[in-house]
Amino acid sequence: MTISITLDDVEQAASRITGIVRRTPVIRSTFLSDCLGRDVWLKLETEQPTGSFKIRGAANRLLELEPDQRARGVIAASTGNHGQAVAHVARFLDIPATIVASRLVPANKLNAIRDLGADLVVTGRSQDDAIAEVTRRSQHDGSIVLPPFDDPAIIAGQGTVALEVLQQVPHTSCVVVPLSGGGLISGVVIATKGLRPHALVVGVSMDRGPAMYRSLQAGMPVEVDELDTLADSLGGGIGPNNQYTFAIVRDLVDRTLLVTEDEIANSIRALHNHDGVIVEGAAAVGVGALLAGQLDNLPTGAVTIIISGRNIDASLFRRIAAGTHTQTRYGK
Ligand SMILES: *Cc1c(COP(=O)(O)O)cnc(C)c1O
Repeated sequence: MTISITLDDVEQAASRITGIVRRTPVIRSTFLSDCLGRDVWLKLETEQPTGSFKIRGAANRLLELEPDQRARGVIAASTGNHGQAVAHVARFLDIPATIVASRLVPANKLNAIRDLGADLVVTGRSQDDAIAEVTRRSQHDGSIVLPPFDDPAIIAGQGTVALEVLQQVPHTSCVVVPLSGGGLISGVVIATKGLRPHALVVGVSMDRGPAMYRSLQAGMPVEVDELDTLADSLGGGIGPNNQYTFAIVRDLVDRTLLVTEDEIANSIRALHNHDGVIVEGAAAVGVGALLAGQLDNLPTGAVTIIISGRNIDASLFRRIAAGTHTQTRYGK
């Protein structure tokens, strides 16, 4: 298939969203550079308003709305960070927003969405249940649905992070990206391959319910059980009617890797101890792959890891940092 989203779309998104979205810093990690024997840089999307990169796509999509669409209001299903981003940008633009979350979404994220002034609906036991509720409500009241990843404007917005990476760390030869529905990595791979055709783009997911990874193996979008994981922002399916991200990831992404819960916990701890960065589980998977030796055979050049968000429950973070976190909470 031909991919309809281009580098040009990502560049246009970048100019559209300045003023709402931050140009986040990069830092060189001495610890990880020593581990890998090459330059390792961290792109700190933890520094965005609402604490994750999701504001990039949300801002680009909301700024595209026509006045009559703004008046109808927007609605989004979310594992947390997309909801916070939509709520934040909608408030800034004075657009009414409803966020639908399942009961798997952690309380810290639900509270943040409420604090941003959005209508919060908690329903169902999975992201798929939340999506069904969004469809039902939008059909009923005409509100505009903001998908979390499978949307050209969302993908182009998320891709703006890669434009910054390639300016900030020009010798990047590999970009490592947390992977769930694939909005982030789709935008990143379109921008990266457009500017540096030989750079590699690697996606990393948790091994507990990696929907895109299983779909790639199956050759089509498949459902996976949504399991409790430290990488809660990576939970949920890619949608049975996936239109964009599945094909983009399949055709353009160089490798997809999986990490365990222990590797995620160790990486959260390592990032805190060595680099002074507080991250949520989803943001730690790239470091997890590096520490597990899964990035050992890359071509020369710097590795830049997208540190995608910081919205971790405070008491969970303290237990992980102290090494007293256990996995007994996992039922399945
Ligand atoms: C949403 C999210 C991801 C994954 O993004 P996709 O576009 O769904 O692949 C990774 N990390 C964090 C912190 C997120 O919120």
